[in-house]
Amino acid sequence: MLDLSSFKKQNYTPYETPLERAHKLELFLGKKSPKIYIKRDDMLGLTGGGNKTRKLEFLMADAIEKKATAIITCGAIQSNHCRLTLAAAIRENCECHLVLEERIPNTFDQEASGNNFLFQLLGATSTTLAKKGENTQAIMKKMANELKKQGKTPYIIPGGGSNEIGSLGYVNCFYEIKNQIKTLAINPSTIICTSGSSGTHAGLVTGIKITKTPIKCLGISVMRSKIEQTELVRSLASKTARLLQANTNINHEDVLIDDNYIGNGYSMPTPEMIEAVTILAQTEGILLDPVYTGKALAGMIDLIRKNSISSDETIIFIHTGGSPALYAYQKDFHQTLKQNYNKTP
Ligand SMILES: *Cc1c(COP(=O)(O)O)cnc(C)c1O
Repeated sequence: MLDLSSFKKQNYTPYETPLERAHKLELFLGKKSPKIYIKRDDMLGLTGGGNKTRKLEFLMADAIEKKATAIITCGAIQSNHCRLTLAAAIRENCECHLVLEERIPNTFDQEASGNNFLFQLLGATSTTLAKKGENTQAIMKKMANELKKQGKTPYIIPGGGSNEIGSLGYVNCFYEIKNQIKTLAINPSTIICTSGSSGTHAGLVTGIKITKTPIKCLGISVMRSKIEQTELVRSLASKTARLLQANTNINHEDVLIDDNYIGNGYSMPTPEMIEAVTILAQTEGILLDPVYTGKALAGMIDLIRKNSISSDETIIFIHTGGSPALYAYQKDFHQTLKQNYNKTP
């Protein structure tokens, strides 16, 4: 196993996240169900947890090494990444400037709940709204120049923390999973994760390749077509392997993407997402999120029901977090949850 210890890392989670068997979800899914383990990255450290914490451990270490005093990043209007970057910046005594992209016109609401509320509660130094299609990269660069003029040292973290430094967090996560698999004496065939800005998926693929582990990693796309997402993940995994000086080629065949669960687009609720979020809440008491993990679990459930995953397999679902965003989507759940409201015992 290639050692990551030559890379500086801040420690935001003082434990390994559990790899838990989801017995009650299996019972719910019935005879077709494989053995399901959930990697509880929703329990990572920093405010509210979730996958960005692992990326930020490496990104913030890099920022600190470069003597940064002001962190700049961007994300959607309910971005978990922005919440966690802000939380990390607070820990490191840095300013934090957020550029929020309104990907669906007229959906930004200053008083919205969920992560939006937390941006304010955690005290973002500034929030800038970008309209759909505006170049957030250019906005962040301009901001960095302004901050330099004020004598500050800005550090730009890309959307989702997805560059090769951030991806190291998920190479690390795969190492952690590999040890847990050994301890539990299980032999999983597949890891299922959400594939968005791609750092999570790319890091896992890199970890699998450099350890030559015979396990598949299937990413459920939440915004891009299979062709686009595959190339995005492959390219970032290659950069990550290069940063690790690993002698490995990452090919298209190493990246498995399913793009059947996006619905009408990024962050747009689907009935299957609502069902999946409700099922996991009511079987395991675990909260998913509507934008990422809800759609990923919807995909996993559908693949099980279609027999694309067979009952003799063992699979791992990476719970990448995001439940604070749920509270901004409460209305989308009203219809289905109301049906149980007046039920007598
Ligand atoms: C960002 C995010 C993802 C997607 O991870 P990427 O590394 O951006 O592909 C999945 N789940 C949640 C909850 C997220 O916030």
